[in-house]
Amino acid sequence: MAQPAKNNDIDVSEYAIARAAMMSTYAPPETVFVRGEGAYLYTEDNDEYLDFFAGIAVNSLGHCHPDLVKTLQDQAASLWHLSNAYRVPQGEQLAARLVELAGFDKTDGRVFFTNSGTESVECGLKIMRRYQFDQGHTGKNRIIGTSSAFHGRTFAAICAAGNPTHVKGFVREDEGYDHAPFGDLDAIAALINENTAGVIVEPVQGEGGIHVASEAYLEGLRKLCDQHGALLMFDEVQCGIARTGKVFGYQHADVQPDIIALAKGIGGGFPVGACIANGPFAASMVVGTHGSTYGGNPLAMAVASKVIELVTETEFLQHVTTVAGELHCALQGLVDKHSGVLDQVRGKGLMLGLRFKDADANAEVMKLAREEKILTTKAGDNVLRLLPPLIIEMSHIEEAVAKLDRAITVYAAQK
Ligand SMILES: *Cc1c(COP(=O)(O)O)cnc(C)c1O
Repeated sequence: MAQPAKNNDIDVSEYAIARAAMMSTYAPPETVFVRGEGAYLYTEDNDEYLDFFAGIAVNSLGHCHPDLVKTLQDQAASLWHLSNAYRVPQGEQLAARLVELAGFDKTDGRVFFTNSGTESVECGLKIMRRYQFDQGHTGKNRIIGTSSAFHGRTFAAICAAGNPTHVKGFVREDEGYDHAPFGDLDAIAALINENTAGVIVEPVQGEGGIHVASEAYLEGLRKLCDQHGALLMFDEVQCGIARTGKVFGYQHADVQPDIIALAKGIGGGFPVGACIANGPFAASMVVGTHGSTYGGNPLAMAVASKVIELVTETEFLQHVTTVAGELHCALQGLVDKHSGVLDQVRGKGLMLGLRFKDADANAEVMKLAREEKILTTKAGDNVLRLLPPLIIEMSHIEEAVAKLDRAITVYAAQK
């Protein structure tokens, strides 16, 4: 069994006991990474891995970006935590900037800061119901989600996504959520009614298998919500913050949501999330309705402000679009070459998926790719998901495609 090499203070048995002390909600490989730099991760033995996983689209600026390290260190030396009982001016400025970036009305768009994606979603779902309640629409409390969705692991988030594996044994028969197949506007039209408080959708589904919502779908959802007085929330936790080459994934379409959930990439690795809501809806969240002890603390606000400053520069967004185009094209080359096992490449920006013909091929190739020293991740629908840091260059793309080519060749030969 592998152990933390070079650490003579811990013997194997203590290591095994420590490892077993973790709940088995994850099953990581033995490899232990101790250092990261840019698009690479390093083990204790200094083995170098190309990171096309980025901690699930979190390390948007790669590992240990010098500006983020300095920002965090400077803030750590002055003030860590206050609670929301006191003002955090950096958070106020970041909130105003997010409202502006989302295209909400500057005078009444509002932000609630959280520590994770599921909390951002939770806040948005609460706004949907509380807003309707405040309007006197007490029966208007049902929420519509879509198939193969992922919104996080709190009760409301698992209900909204409705993934059978995630809800099993946790939720009762009817918690007030309805589901329609992702991308099917007619199915939403058939479900939405006077009891619908709101609709939640990922503009690009991540965990579900890199499904890109069409512009017509997103715009159609807006119309249906308007017709039925329902709120529209986009879960941008994975596809937001420049991942698709625009600040928000929905900005490829001509549509404006009422609520946006953010996390992952916005902290570049520091745990932080945000729920942005347009004025009339956010106005329901008055003192006493919601809260978070850590949400919006000075450390998180300092780092997130720096991330937003860097990734929203026009040249940065252009860089993402350019390298994403190159990567998409190179992956199409792999699909053409390995057409016996690969079905298609799909996705938007640097949120890409290689879809395999056989079930579980994605898991197999993920392991083989790791042996070639490139990290990727699985998604639903037989998809191998690629979520590189947004700072990758052409050289990383060439290295990634060569490594994936070898992994897929090995897989195809074994089959
Ligand atoms: C990861 C993810 C979440 C949950 O984020 P956590 O930080 O794990 O709570 C929610 N929605 C989407 C689309 C995600 O990808």
